[in-house]
Amino acid sequence: MTSPERHAWTDEAMEAALAEAHVPSLITALVHLTGDESLLRGEEKPTSQLFGDPQGGISPEQQTQIRRRALDALKAHRDAGFPDLPAPRPELVKEMVDFITGVELDDAYGDFLMSELKIFDEDPYRVSLDDLPCDARRDFHVLVIGAGMSGILAAIRLKQAGVGFTVVDKNAGVGGTWFENRYPGCRVDSPNHTYSYSFAPEDWPQHFSPQRVLRAYFERIATEHGIHDKVRLGTEVLEAHYRSSGEWQVKVRGPDGESTLTVNAIISAVGQLNRPKLPEIDGRDSFRGPAFHTAQWQAEHDLEGKRIVVIGTGASAFQTVPEIAKVAARVTVFQRTPPWVSQRPDYHAPISDAKHWLLNEVPFYGKWYRFWMFWTTGEGLLSMVRRDPDWDGHADGAANGERSVSEANDRLRAMLTANVERMVGDDPELFAKCLPGYPPAGKRMLIDNGHWFRALKRDNVELVTDPIARIVPEGVETKSGRHVDADVIIYGTGFHASRLLFPMKLYGKSGVELREHWGADPRAYLGIVMPDYPNLFCCYGPNTNIVVNGSIVFFSECEVRYIMGCLKLLIERSVAEDGDLLPAAMDCRQDIHDAYNERIDAGNLGMAWGSPDVRSWYKNQHGRVTQNWPFTLLDFWKQTRAPDPEDYTFT
Ligand code: NAP
Repeated sequence: MTSPERHAWTDEAMEAALAEAHVPSLITALVHLTGDESLLRGEEKPTSQLFGDPQGGISPEQQTQIRRRALDALKAHRDAGFPDLPAPRPELVKEMVDFITGVELDDAYGDFLMSELKIFDEDPYRVSLDDLPCDARRDFHVLVIGAGMSGILAAIRLKQAGVGFTVVDKNAGVGGTWFENRYPGCRVDSPNHTYSYSFAPEDWPQHFSPQRVLRAYFERIATEHGIHDKVRLGTEVLEAHYRSSGEWQVKVRGPDGESTLTVNAIISAVGQLNRPKLPEIDGRDSFRGPAFHTAQWQAEHDLEGKRIVVIGTGASAFQTVPEIAKVAARVTVFQRTPPWVSQRPDYHAPISDAKHWLLNEVPFYGKWYRFWMFWTTGEGLLSMVRRDPDWDGHADGAANGERSVSEANDRLRAMLTANVERMVGDDPELFAKCLPGYPPAGKRMLIDNGHWFRALKRDNVELVTDPIARIVPEGVETKSGRHVDADVIIYGTGFHASRLLFPMKLYGKSGVELREHWGADPRAYLGIVMPDYPNLFCCYGPNTNIVVNGSIVFFSECEVRYIMGCLKLLIERSVAEDGDLLPAAMDCRQDIHDAYNERIDAGNLGMAWGSPDVRSWYKNQHGRVTQNWPFTLLDFWKQTRAPDPEDYTFT
């Protein structure tokens, strides 16, 4: 990554870089470089690249020809002194979008993709409040709860808009989940080129970078945008009360004790996955050795040569087991449900100098590559996880549960099964344990480069599917009576996801506490606002999680754009004739909220994760999907573009 050749535009550097190019992205970049639109209209076009050949089936001969052409075009660009390239027409951009995805997309994607591509370097998620009086914006004060990915983003947008704000975070540093999760092997499992702010692309060292890199990114972005002096670290919100004056009174506990803040609005950016959940297992507290959750890693315990029990095989355990197995004497992994695993050979791979060169130097290549990722790892996958009402996925009879939800989902199942077979097929017992019985995307699919399955095949690792009966001082006892001695127990058992906003207490207009009002069933309009809780906005609230790996950063960008639109409406209505600020309130209409939630519920029932046979953190105890967004990214983008004042009552 630090190679001195990286920025060199020598013929050799260019040739070496082009050898590693993603050819569909290169072709689109070539259209910008040469103006030759016929490149998009030739005989050979990429086909859909979901789970297939990343080069979209473009023949090796055609690839060679494109690389040669790109070399000539790049040399010409260099020799002409790197001139500015003309902006393409919107219709041409649409044609390029269809070309690179290999799918003819609905016209409705036009605007959305233009903004996702940021081809003209605009910042489409930024909302300007410049037409409102400066003093009113400054005097209006917003409390942002949480300084993770969404909280930093909200702070940046508030600062850009000149709105007064304070951020509080319970942790000793910013970065949220990337500050907290420090277990060995922790890394982002969505591609980094989409898991980053649209306005702050990064020269990522890996396609899926490790935790420390993500943490440094969010820390740096907060620094660059001058956010730190607005953040009160080590400060936790205890409770907040809405006052009829249109303000919130918020009790916080910080390094100097408890205090009360009065603010005009609250943005909760606390995330869904920040309160670790320990399993209800008999005798849990009787264990005599160290026992901790992956999100509360206790690095002081040396795991070398230890007998370790790991409970859970979700995303966190999946990343840490292969790492701790390298040093432990023995790792016994207790699995309740196997995850579906999708193969990504580049999961741990550094981005080569050649790829860095392409991403950083070739005009527009990085933008098209980011968009291609966005499509192939997000939007494009939805068609494979949507339920076909006429499909019977109960291959072995209804009693054995649903295996797939559509023909496409069944094909995906076959593809993923073949991979499990390739990895552990030589061990029939392990194969049977590793093969999920539910439809792909019933739970979050995990990605791997073989790391997980290789770890399970190590001599010092055992995957146990006997249910746990109890924890005893010496280890774990299974229901079949087996005793597993342990020195350390690690819980990879997830988070209190559906206890959203826990443990804060937020009392709304009628004095009811929000989590009590929700019970086990959190609901919001657009995942952002709740009737009876005026001027309270959520990022990553109910039903805004995604399963098939689009980027949650995208959701936050949409949410914060919408919230800034709400603040604009609020501040407009708060400015009195003499210019003073008279707090206004906006409260989501109950009928709008209810109708929206009906659509969400119907949508989730139509997706693989709505399958009645699957238990997951996406559902509450009654089986309702409380966490996930069931529609396209385009739908969320459209619905959150700007608030409709008709959806609210203003006071
Ligand atoms: P999780 O996906 O909820 O997994 C929890 C695991 O613990 C599951 O295997 C679950 O089994 C098991 N479990 C829970 N209670 C148990 C019990 N009483 N006995 C036995 N097993 C039990 O939690 P997670 O792995 O922490 O991941 C949560 C989410 O965080 C992910 O879906 C993802 O969105 C995010 N995450 C992201 C990354 C990343 O980007 N790098 C990494 C980690 C996590 P069942 O499946 O049977 O319930």
